Amino acid sequence: MPDIIQLLPDHVANQIAAGEVVQRPASVVKELMENAIDAGATTVKLIIKDGGKTLIQVIDDGVGMSPTDARLSFERHATSKITKAEDLFNLSTNGFRGEALASIAAIAHVEMQSRTEQDEVATHIKIEGSKVVSQEVAVAPKGTSMMVKNLFFNIPARRNFLKSTQVELRHIIDEFHRVALAHPSIGFHFYNNGSEIFNLPKSNDRQRIVNVFGGKTNEKLVPVHEETQVVTINGFICKPEFAKKSRGEQFFFVNNRYIKSPYLHHAIVAAFDGLIKKESHPGYFLYLTVDPGSIDINIHPTKTEVKFDDEHTLYAILRSTVKHSLGQFNVIPTLDFDRDQNLETPYDYKNKSVEQPRVVVDAGFNPFKDEMATSSGRSSFQKPATKGWESLYSGMESEGVGSTDFSSVSFESETITGSIFDDQKVGLDAVTTTFQLRRKYIVTTIKSGMVVIDQSRAHQRVLYENFLKNITVKEAVSQQLLFPLSLTFSKSDRDIIMEIQENLISLGFDFEAIGEEEIKITGVPLSVSESEVEMILDQLISDYQQDFEVDGFSQTDVLSKTLAKSLAVKTGEVLDRDSQLALVNDLFACKESRLSPFNKSIYVTITEDDIDKKFL
Ligand code: ADP
Ligand code: MG
Repeated sequence: MPDIIQLLPDHVANQIAAGEVVQRPASVVKELMENAIDAGATTVKLIIKDGGKTLIQVIDDGVGMSPTDARLSFERHATSKITKAEDLFNLSTNGFRGEALASIAAIAHVEMQSRTEQDEVATHIKIEGSKVVSQEVAVAPKGTSMMVKNLFFNIPARRNFLKSTQVELRHIIDEFHRVALAHPSIGFHFYNNGSEIFNLPKSNDRQRIVNVFGGKTNEKLVPVHEETQVVTINGFICKPEFAKKSRGEQFFFVNNRYIKSPYLHHAIVAAFDGLIKKESHPGYFLYLTVDPGSIDINIHPTKTEVKFDDEHTLYAILRSTVKHSLGQFNVIPTLDFDRDQNLETPYDYKNKSVEQPRVVVDAGFNPFKDEMATSSGRSSFQKPATKGWESLYSGMESEGVGSTDFSSVSFESETITGSIFDDQKVGLDAVTTTFQLRRKYIVTTIKSGMVVIDQSRAHQRVLYENFLKNITVKEAVSQQLLFPLSLTFSKSDRDIIMEIQENLISLGFDFEAIGEEEIKITGVPLSVSESEVEMILDQLISDYQQDFEVDGFSQTDVLSKTLAKSLAVKTGEVLDRDSQLALVNDLFACKESRLSPFNKSIYVTITEDDIDKKFL
């Protein structure tokens, strides 16, 4: 094979978005895997040790490199993928900057072995901190193996800045997911510290998603397909009922490249509007194909941001395509797309004023009319009339089934949330009068005037201090479930749960891991009901992901906060009088009663003076 790598001329190199490529081990994983894919590999193997801090190796069966190319590939702006400035606007490869290998070789111990089909022997090069230590011939199969050891060995400050092995591993898994999902027709293996954690055979989009996120994912997926002049959209959205607290499963791929786009993400959120709760996130795996000339990838060194020529059109197409899929696959019971193109949120009836439902009564209707004519006595009451049963519904036709008139939507009635504070430690003497304001605040009097308490924040504080205490003194009481609860998680979510296992147990959870994706829950804390367990664990995973650096003390803090947030009464809940009193007294028995666990004010006081001033 002829040599193909060239140094980019200065005027092209200067047009390449400058910036750091290697931020952490996961960046190296991404760059090496992308190179393997650009080399036409059919199988890619990723091997890491200690969250990539000691070793990252990527082995491919792609085209390999000639001895000259192998040497040249480590030069800055050396690439086989583009030669002139115009190429930047018509990219079909993952890489194009010619910087990754140079950047990696500058800060690590790198060993490369590569052989092309035509060459009999492979080239073996060792580089340490940009210095070539050796270049030899070697025996190796066709393809390339890149080994990156001791990342940031020569920049101690950066090395110390790396997070725990677990956290770095999680970043690597995230990158691995993205690359693997973008290329379902390529097989991937992933080994961490000697054991295989992913084995993804060549497959199609759907199968790849399922192989990455576990068997249960299949039933969640709703296909999406649309072809327009601007874009072809393929992929899947997750059914609304599977929307998660954590943002985990949200993927956009543009021309087989994972990209982040808050703007397009918003189009999906808009399509789901009204179908999922505010704090839930829709899941999606969307593969967009556009003319490479209509996008610019050269805007960020890590190539995860893209500028589209016509983002607005893309937004509109995406939103309506997703809405259409939700409707077509009967995920939403009825959605009439032709009726009103601008209908933003068909289910947003919250802002509508409530109208009295119309009930049409057929005054002349007598269900026993037929029966009475034929039968005698009471026997007719024991046997339901089978004949003419439809007439029982007489008068209802006029309601119009499937009507979009919102007056027919029934509203949940206000139910009193039972007494939530069973085990009050503080007597109720301290505060005796309370009332609830707008199902949000509890108002009570004090010597100098009155206090207005945010019910949700107050309860968060009470629960938070309780959970913190339970974890530290490990005195939580667990209620055993009669039938163990079996929950399925993606592998990375399950890993998070196992990481915080010890603290979960101190809180009163009892569980064991089964297989790779399942967790069997046998006990839950007293304050948690069985139906809340999944929601709480979901929330925990999500908070934990966002708060990557939690360990030791702060882990207990995050856990307690999450539980408090999930279990606290919410704005809008009606509290009976005992609950109001108990909440107020519990709050003022807390170590810190002024601020919620999230540092928000819990109450305001309004003194008699303040009130007097209003009357001046
Ligand atoms: P880029 O991918 O932007 O071109 P890199 O620094 O990542 O820049 O790689 C430089 C060059 O080295 C690539 O253009 C390619 O020709 C060659 N190369 C890198 N990795 C591989 C590989 N795994 N197989 C074959 N060639 C490779
Ligand atoms: Mg590259």
